Amino acid sequence: MCSNFENNELFENAEVPQTGNQKNYSVCKKCDKSSFVLLQKKDPFCKSCFYEYCRHKFRSTIGKSNLVPHKSNVLVAFSGGLSSSALTDLLIDSIQNPDSHKKLHLHPSFVFVNGCHLLCKERKDLSNVQFNEIGRMFKTGFKCFVTSLEMCFQSDGTFYEQITSETQFPLTNNDCQQKWFDSFESLNSLTAKEEYIRRTRHLLIMEIAKREKCPFVFLGSSGSRLAVNLLTDISQGKGNQLQNEVGFCDDRHEVKCLKPMREFVKKEILFWAKMRDVVYEEKRNLTTQLSKKATLSRLTESFITGLEESFPATVYTIVRTGNKLKPLANSSKTCSLCLSQVDEPKDNYSAIDALNDTLRLSRNSTNEDINKFENLCYGCKTMIRDSNNSANIIPELIRCKQREIIDDFLLK
Ligand SMILES: [Zn+2]
Ligand SMILES: [Zn+2]
Repeated sequence: MCSNFENNELFENAEVPQTGNQKNYSVCKKCDKSSFVLLQKKDPFCKSCFYEYCRHKFRSTIGKSNLVPHKSNVLVAFSGGLSSSALTDLLIDSIQNPDSHKKLHLHPSFVFVNGCHLLCKERKDLSNVQFNEIGRMFKTGFKCFVTSLEMCFQSDGTFYEQITSETQFPLTNNDCQQKWFDSFESLNSLTAKEEYIRRTRHLLIMEIAKREKCPFVFLGSSGSRLAVNLLTDISQGKGNQLQNEVGFCDDRHEVKCLKPMREFVKKEILFWAKMRDVVYEEKRNLTTQLSKKATLSRLTESFITGLEESFPATVYTIVRTGNKLKPLANSSKTCSLCLSQVDEPKDNYSAIDALNDTLRLSRNSTNEDINKFENLCYGCKTMIRDSNNSANIIPELIRCKQREIIDDFLLK
């Protein structure tokens, strides 16, 4: 298991609470065994009570939504990081539970979207890169798939494949890699690049789920991650999309995207991984070793982590507030890139009008360019505003989708 300074910090916090009598925390709050973890600086749990607490929370998050029928096919997005590895372990544990009342009746399959080789500044020789994630996913014994971020520029259905061996290499090709680098490098800010990776990864996963007849996708997003995403999205002007981004179910796509880890904070996931010996590896990403101010999301993360030190319920509060947010009005237009609703301002000159005018004036764009922007939501437009060459940003997968919609419409 990988560990970093953050883990150690959390483990220490568990043993030495800052307030109250230390003796109170040494015994589990549910039984009289010695405690293993202290949650929210006030709830000590022993190993077996913590195990039941996590399993119950996981099952009830899925169960209370009443969205996932028995024996459904679900595609689990596996990145190999802490949260998705814990999700995989919790899911398999719940599926194999000998107690039939507590058993989850689901048919999982897994997908890994490789992107690490594209994020390094110097383009590495791929043959030297080892993909431990593929081996770990393969060992689950369920159906597994693999693709790479750049494959969203593949125009036919061969953008992913099933894994048949532990040492299989992620699918890639030079043409798609070139297109990916061109569009990725045309984005000027790190925030836009992070957002672009998030969007294209999501797109690939949803498309694979659709083709593999999985009506549901499980994401490993924890409450801590969702709180960061929520505040980052607000600061990027994505008000209309917040409900889908932070809620349990995102139904913008044909496939429903669910977040069964949304009630867990990072500390709970860390202790689950420690207790169950879950192997995980946090890979280098765009902002590794950069300052706190490198991207909006990094800055938000450090803000929330700072708040949590004094107010342990910060993440819960943000996520619960997010649950109550609803879009102002239903719109018939959907964004070409993220498929969320596009605001249709009716009366006054709005922020989206201002952004359209800025794009027109700053780029001296042709009408064709402007039409491309018209189909994007405010959030995606601000991302593309940071791009030198907006024409290449939309992945081939989306273009195919748009053509299918037009063909369907013409046939009808
Ligand atoms: Zn206990
Ligand atoms: Zn969008």
